[in-house]
Amino acid sequence: MINSSELNAFCMPGGKIIFYSGLIRQLNLTDEEIAVVMGHEISHALREHSREQVSQALAAQSAIGLGAALFGFGQGAADIAGVLYQSLVATRFSRTDENEADRMGLELSARAGYDPRAGVTLWQKMIKANSGGSPPVFLSSHPTEASRVQQIEELLPTVLPLYKAARRD
Ligand SMILES: [Zn+2]
Repeated sequence: MINSSELNAFCMPGGKIIFYSGLIRQLNLTDEEIAVVMGHEISHALREHSREQVSQALAAQSAIGLGAALFGFGQGAADIAGVLYQSLVATRFSRTDENEADRMGLELSARAGYDPRAGVTLWQKMIKANSGGSPPVFLSSHPTEASRVQQIEELLPTVLPLYKAARRD
């Protein structure tokens, strides 16, 4: 937990999760909404998304560097190719990861006994915070907020029974 007004939470390679107090305080998150964020970050850790991403980025970098060397381009060309790779391909990987973390995280929080409908209210709060000025860091690498809320709503019939079963035990 980092005491900061920033609206962010993330998972580092190796699975350490950083949660900023600003996310809880400024968006006035409920326990259920915090559980949805935690479920999302725990899913990144369980699926080792950051390790996947680091190795994909490293593999791409060395492929680009090798290509540039073979064709006699300088390091400048390799750098430009690297930047292009980052903006075109890496973003798409991370969006796939984000969708997976949303799906898996919602299931984890429901199984832990937290109402998964909080996923909808969480993202509505995020959208509201996003509407004025710069978007929260947590949102920046993300699928559009609307498609995200839609995905969560589509998942509710699957995860609500898990939540209800967890509450009965
Ligand atoms: Zn994420």
